[in-house]
Amino acid sequence: MWDYSFAIPSLLILGILLLNYFALQRLPIKINRTFVILLLIETVVISSDIISSWACENYSDLPISAVYISNMVFFVFFLLRGFFFFVFTCNILELDLKANLVRTIACNIPLIFTEGIVLATPWLKAIFTVDDHGYVRSYAYHLITFTFLYYILFSIVMVLSLRKFFKRRREFYGALVYLNILLIGLTLRVILPKYLLMDTFCIMAILTINIIFMNPDFYIDRQTRLFNRDGIRLYLDENYFKRHYIFAFVIDHYTETSEIYGNKQMDAGLGLIGNYLRWKFGNMLMFYCRSGRFVFVVDNKPEVDSIIETLIERFKRPFISDDVELYLNISFARIICDYKGYSSDSILNVISSTLEKASSNNNRTILDIDDRSFIENHKNILIKKALERATEDHSVAIFLQPIVDANTHELVGAESLCRIFNDSGELIPPDKFIPIAESNGRIYNLGAQVFEKTCIFIRDNDLDALGLKWINVNLSTAQFMKKDLAESFEKLINEYNISPEKIHLEITEASITDEIIMKDQLDKIKLKGFELSLDDYGTGYSNASRLKHFPFHNVKIDMSLIWDYCKQPDIILPTLVKTFRQSGYTITAEGIETKEMAATMEEIGCNYLQGMYFSPPLPVDEFIAKYKK
Ligand code: C2E
Ligand code: MG
Ligand code: MG
Repeated sequence: MWDYSFAIPSLLILGILLLNYFALQRLPIKINRTFVILLLIETVVISSDIISSWACENYSDLPISAVYISNMVFFVFFLLRGFFFFVFTCNILELDLKANLVRTIACNIPLIFTEGIVLATPWLKAIFTVDDHGYVRSYAYHLITFTFLYYILFSIVMVLSLRKFFKRRREFYGALVYLNILLIGLTLRVILPKYLLMDTFCIMAILTINIIFMNPDFYIDRQTRLFNRDGIRLYLDENYFKRHYIFAFVIDHYTETSEIYGNKQMDAGLGLIGNYLRWKFGNMLMFYCRSGRFVFVVDNKPEVDSIIETLIERFKRPFISDDVELYLNISFARIICDYKGYSSDSILNVISSTLEKASSNNNRTILDIDDRSFIENHKNILIKKALERATEDHSVAIFLQPIVDANTHELVGAESLCRIFNDSGELIPPDKFIPIAESNGRIYNLGAQVFEKTCIFIRDNDLDALGLKWINVNLSTAQFMKKDLAESFEKLINEYNISPEKIHLEITEASITDEIIMKDQLDKIKLKGFELSLDDYGTGYSNASRLKHFPFHNVKIDMSLIWDYCKQPDIILPTLVKTFRQSGYTITAEGIETKEMAATMEEIGCNYLQGMYFSPPLPVDEFIAKYKK
């Protein structure tokens, strides 16, 4: 007699899992597909287990073929179940079953072989036979057990040997738990063949998988309830071979807009946008990638244009609910080239940077992404790599650009400007890598190298003989987050035995942000004996009253102001220079490219001049050769 008492509740639990699976939105990715196949196979296995057991009991009332077929169906799916637990384990380890011939054979041959034996049962009678006494196990019956065991042990070995590929420790232990549950189930099946216990253990394994790996929230954004950035990354990694159309939109000036409306209202607004998108375009794949960026994956091109039209119309009106009223502008980016050769990271980076460009245009814009955008992105990656290398192996170089006296055109100072090199030894200009260094923290190392290399230059050269009174070093405001900045500078000048007056530090006006931290840091630097220069005056907020509270002694007027004045003189710049001079600042004019510009700037009262007319920034040895008297 077979005991079904375990199988029927197992079937009910399976029903709940299936309902849950189909009720929630899931990404069309491999692991989800495997899981649903596993659920369906499990349903067939349990049902056929019950049916075939019943058929075995009532064999005398049934045609012999019914007993054969029901048992064969059970064994076929029993083996497939073991195989799909193994496939699932490969999916979580991101292993490709068909990566090479050895792997393909090791993964598939046992299944194909045993399935063949099962299907040949009516002739070979290797697994079981049905005769006048009913169903009887045959000599090769345990081939079924061994094949299942093979896939479980293979999975356990993979999990243990590839432990480091698990993203979370919980996943590693989870995988071991479900595989061991299967092992126990298989053992009980061998010991107690008349109890349909194995199915219950398989359900326990599936429940473990469901809890540990199948949480749909991993890929769903909380605010919009659309799929999130991890989701799109995974999706693109797996589906790159398919030809889809991708476009994205962004809420213009998202950070500023959030500041104006407040985070709470903005979050509620994102919820409303998510609801609208799901209601309007429910069958599309939509992702929310934070910072106001939404990405759509659609099947055909006309759809892209019609969705963009619809969205433009919708965003002309505000998003309103009881406590929210948001007026938002959006900009678009759409990929118009074949992107299948690019990684998910490049695709997402290119989308982000294009959206940023689109939203900084004032009109509502749609920017197209083509191969050039990907090439640009690739260049940025190379710059990032060059930056990493230069900071790691201490190879940031300094170039010196002369600063001359406005009256005599004699050398008085120099500005130390950093340079790094790409793989082919070409120079990469700082405006390409400083913003990257500021955003990924490399600026600390880079700033320290420039400062130290400038100290070394001062130690190794007779500044007086060159005519140099000081050297300017640029400082990024990001460096102000380093609490011991002033002390680190002091330590270096002590180490190289140079006096602090030889170094002036330049801070760019545009980047003056947190005034309290900034003032505190500048006061400390000043106390250590360094002079401070305000760089690029005229590019930032130009708040003169704020300037009064910072300990600057010199103001460098940005070249854009100088060029503008030289093209079209007015009284603003001369008045500004005069006011600064009366307030005790010295003035440096940047970007002097011609003799006339030099004369004009001298005329309006600038103290120092810097620019290509005198010299571009030079490598240290060329600078020495040029200015050694
Ligand atoms: P900056 O501090 O305003 O430096 C002056 C920039 O103007 C330099 O560009 C210089 O080559 C360029 N320049 C000088 N004279 C002329 C001219 O007559 N015409 C034109 N068109 N350009 C001229 P560079 O070296 O590319 O540096 C760009 C910016 O990168 C610098 O602007 C500075 O803000 C930043 N930077 C450079 N080195 C460092 C550094 O070590 N640390 C930090 N934090 N920033 C740096
Ligand atoms: Mg500067
Ligand atoms: Mg400047």
